Amino acid sequence: MTKKAFQAESKRLLDLMINSIYTHREIFLRELISNASDAIDKLYYSTLSDESRVFNREDYYIRITPDKAARTLTISDTGIGMTKEEMEENLGVIAKSGSLAFKKENELKDGFDIIGQFGVGFYSAFMVADKVTVVSRALDSETAYCWESSGPDGYTVEKAEKASVGTDIILTIKANTEDEEYDEYLDEYRLKALVKKYSDFIRYPIKMNVTTHKPKEGSDSEFEEVREEKTLNSMVPIWRKNKNELTADDYQNFYTEKHYGFDKPIRHLHISVDGAVRYNAILFVPEKPPYDFYTKEYEKGLELYSNGVLIMNKCADLLPDYFSFVKGMVDSEDLSLNISRELLQHDRQLKLIAKNINSKIQRELELCLKNDRESYERFYQSFGRQLKYGVYSDFGAHKDVLQDLLLFYSSKEKKLVTLAEYVERMPEEQKYIYYAVGESYERIEKLPQIDLVADKGYEILYFIDDVDEFAIRVMMDYKEKAFKSVSSGDLGIEPEEKEEKTEAEEKQQQGLFTAMKELLSGKVKDVRASKRLKTHPVCLSNDGEISIEMEKILSAMPHNGESVKADKVLEVNPHHQVFQALIAAQAGDPEKFALYTKLLYNQALLIEGLPVDDPVEYTNNICKIMV
Ligand code: ADP
Repeated sequence: MTKKAFQAESKRLLDLMINSIYTHREIFLRELISNASDAIDKLYYSTLSDESRVFNREDYYIRITPDKAARTLTISDTGIGMTKEEMEENLGVIAKSGSLAFKKENELKDGFDIIGQFGVGFYSAFMVADKVTVVSRALDSETAYCWESSGPDGYTVEKAEKASVGTDIILTIKANTEDEEYDEYLDEYRLKALVKKYSDFIRYPIKMNVTTHKPKEGSDSEFEEVREEKTLNSMVPIWRKNKNELTADDYQNFYTEKHYGFDKPIRHLHISVDGAVRYNAILFVPEKPPYDFYTKEYEKGLELYSNGVLIMNKCADLLPDYFSFVKGMVDSEDLSLNISRELLQHDRQLKLIAKNINSKIQRELELCLKNDRESYERFYQSFGRQLKYGVYSDFGAHKDVLQDLLLFYSSKEKKLVTLAEYVERMPEEQKYIYYAVGESYERIEKLPQIDLVADKGYEILYFIDDVDEFAIRVMMDYKEKAFKSVSSGDLGIEPEEKEEKTEAEEKQQQGLFTAMKELLSGKVKDVRASKRLKTHPVCLSNDGEISIEMEKILSAMPHNGESVKADKVLEVNPHHQVFQALIAAQAGDPEKFALYTKLLYNQALLIEGLPVDDPVEYTNNICKIMV
C-alpha cells in the first residue's frame, strides 16, 4: 500500500501540533465531537430535501469508547460519513488553505492560536495520538474506507468493513512521557468531565459505557459494579438555558469552544426575546481584533440557527458594518430551516431580529462606557476605528447611533473623553468644538496652530487616526456645536486686544504679503498676518473644506491623477523678529527677500509634516544664510 503525502501546509501544521508544548491538549475531544455533530446535522439536512428519508432522532448519536488495554479511544458517530474522495480531500488538506502562510513561524508556537483562527480541528487528534485511524461509510454507499496516518510523513487509504453509515475515529493514545500524562484520555471520569466542560450543549446524545455502583439485589448495604450506557451531555444549548444558571466562565467557555476568538471578551449579551419575533442570542464584544479585522478578508456575521440547527456560519445580514466586531449566535424558531441564502436576505423576521440586536449592542456599549470605562477603553483601542468608519460611512446616516460611543484624546484631560464630556465643560462663550490633527499626541502638542485656542484655555481634541477628521466632517456638529480645526482660517476667536495700526503700517504689511504671495504662486492661496501664532514665525492654515491633513490622506489613496488639494494659507506672525527681517529685506535686497520667503514656506511645510518641495535647495539655502 502506497503512502500519500500531506499537502505541504498540512504537514507543517501537523508538525506543529505534535511538537508544540501545548497546554490545551484536552480540546481534541471537543473538536472531534463537534465534527461528529456536524456530520449528523448534514445527514439531517439531507432528509429535509428528500422525502424518502426519515430522520429518527433515536438513531443519531455519538459514542465514546476508551479501551485501556488496546490504548485506543474511539469516537463514533452515525452521521453522513465520508467517501474515499472526501476523506482525501478533508483529512489530507487544511480546510482554509493558504491561511497558515499568513502567520509567521514564531507566531505559531502556540497551537491554540491555530485552532482558534483556522479551525483545523481534526488535526488536534495528533496532539494526543501517535496514530489516527478513520473508518467511514458515506450515506448511500455500500463500501467503507479506512484512512490512517501516524503523522506528518503521510497517510494511507484503503477499503474497509463497516456495518452502518457513519464514522469511527480511532486514536491510538500516546505513551506517557516524563512530563506528559496521556493515560487520562482513556479514563472514564476524565472523559466524562471533558464532555461536560466542552460539549454539554451538543444536540445529539454523547454516549459512553460507564461503571456505576448499584445496591446488590436483596441487600441495602452491599453494592455491586454495573456497566451501563450513559448519555454524558445535557443536550440543552447554553442559549436555551436560564441566565441565572450560567456563570461568566460558562460564557467564556462557549466563546472559546465556538472559536469566536481566543481573547477574553469584554462583554457578553444573553438575549431571549419572545414578542413579534422570537429568538435567543448570545453575543460577545471581543477585546482584541482578529488578525485580519481591518482587512478586506475579514467576514462579519453571526451564526444562525433555526430551532437549534445551525443553518449558516456567518450571517452577515444580522450585523451592521460598524458593529462587525461582534461575535456570537442567534437561534430563532421563526426561520425556516431550508430557506435559501437569497431568500433569507429578504426575510422579514431576520430583518426584525437584526434591528433588535443592533439596538441591544448599542445599549450594551453605552452601558459599558458608563459603568466600566476601563474595559470600554480597551475595547475602543481595538475597535474605535470601526465605530468612526461607521460614522463616516453612508453619509453620516448612523451618526445618532454612534456619536456617543466615540472617544477622543483631550488636551486638557490628557486622556480619552466623550463628546458629551467635552461639550459639558465648554465655557459659555466658546462657539466650537476644537480639534487638531497630527501623527501623534506629542506632535500635535507642539503644533504652532494650537497656540491661540490653547491660550484661551479651550479644550482641544487630538485626532491621530486617518478617519477622525473625515468622520467629524460628516457629523458636522454635536449637540449643535460645530467642529472646528485649529488650522482652519477662521477660528471664531477674537484676539484679546485689537491691534492699533496706522494706515501706513497697514499698507506696508499688505505690500509685503502680496509680494510673498507672488513668490509662492501656485503653492499657497494667500499669505496673511496670523492671529493665532504666539511664538512661532509661520504656520500653514487652510481656507475651504479640505484640510491639509485630509489632503495628505486623500493623496496617499489611489486616485485617477486628479488629486484633491487644500487651499493653503501661509500665516506670518507680525510680532516675530523674523517679520522685521522680512521688511528690511523687501526694502533693500529682493534676492534675500525671495530667499527668506522660500525658507519660511518650507518651514511651515515641515511643521505640518509635509515634504518640502526641494530638500536639496532648502538645505543649500540654510547654508547660504549661515555663511
Ligand atoms: P472543520 O471542521 O473546521 O471543517 P476539520 O479539520 O475538523 O475542519 O474537518 C475537516 C473536514 O473533515 C470537515 O469539514 C468534514 O467535512 C470532514 N469530517 C471531519 N470529521 C468528520 C466526521 N466525523 N464525519 C464526517 N465528516 C467529517
